[in-house]
Amino acid sequence: MTDKLTLVAIFAHPDDEAFGTGGTLTKYAQEGVDIHLVVATLGEAGSVVNPDVTPTQPKSLLREQELRRACEQFGIKNLHLLGFMDGQTALVPPSEAVYKIVKLLRHLKPQVVLSFGPEGIYGHFDHLVVHRWSAAAVELAAEADRWPEIGTAHQVAKFYYRAMPQQQIEQMEETTGRSAVSMDGIPFPFMGYPMEQITTVIDIRDYAQTKLNGIRCYASQIQPDMMPFFQDNFDPATNHWFWQEAFILSHPKNKPGADKEDDLFAGVR
Ligand SMILES: [Zn+2]
Repeated sequence: MTDKLTLVAIFAHPDDEAFGTGGTLTKYAQEGVDIHLVVATLGEAGSVVNPDVTPTQPKSLLREQELRRACEQFGIKNLHLLGFMDGQTALVPPSEAVYKIVKLLRHLKPQVVLSFGPEGIYGHFDHLVVHRWSAAAVELAAEADRWPEIGTAHQVAKFYYRAMPQQQIEQMEETTGRSAVSMDGIPFPFMGYPMEQITTVIDIRDYAQTKLNGIRCYASQIQPDMMPFFQDNFDPATNHWFWQEAFILSHPKNKPGADKEDDLFAGVR
């Protein structure tokens, strides 16, 4: 069994890690797992949606500062910025992006990798692209004859998608009245999975306040009238949708009828 546990989370924008995996990353960081967060862009194309935030710095710097503060809250010590342009990831040659991620995976040798699933939570184009990059990188990192100059092959033991159960979206809608993300004034609905497709649920109740503190670091991205995170009466401990973080195990494929996991490192500790 392995002594040193390493988890790599690969997302598109600052804040992608916070809403659905902030509690999970905090939990494993506190347990001593080496957590690496890979962020493809600095989110500079996103609007400042909070009227209480008046940025004095360029948007990319504002969002990087928010990201670094959130990492401190979550206990994430290792941040890897891939430096691609927000909203433009589909234009990046896939080999360039995948090469960078394979290089990281071979160097860090994580047992567990997390990323977006093929629905990208609400179909954000950068999320879909990062899903493809991550899935390809996990596969190619294990192929010894692919890019041998960037390290020896590494087989990730478990590759997960962050996923929203359909019932979680319904519960969230009850609290927030919201089941979509607005981009440029256009609602992009959250895409949920039936509970039977969810392989892994992490109960982050003990870390719910830290998760909330991390989310609050992204003040520029929180619409006070649509999201409850700055409301005084929002209690993270009583909102089921907030403290259950769900995942789908993509590699290896889950055995049919298997019990739901409550630990991303189940079987590799
Ligand atoms: Zn995003």
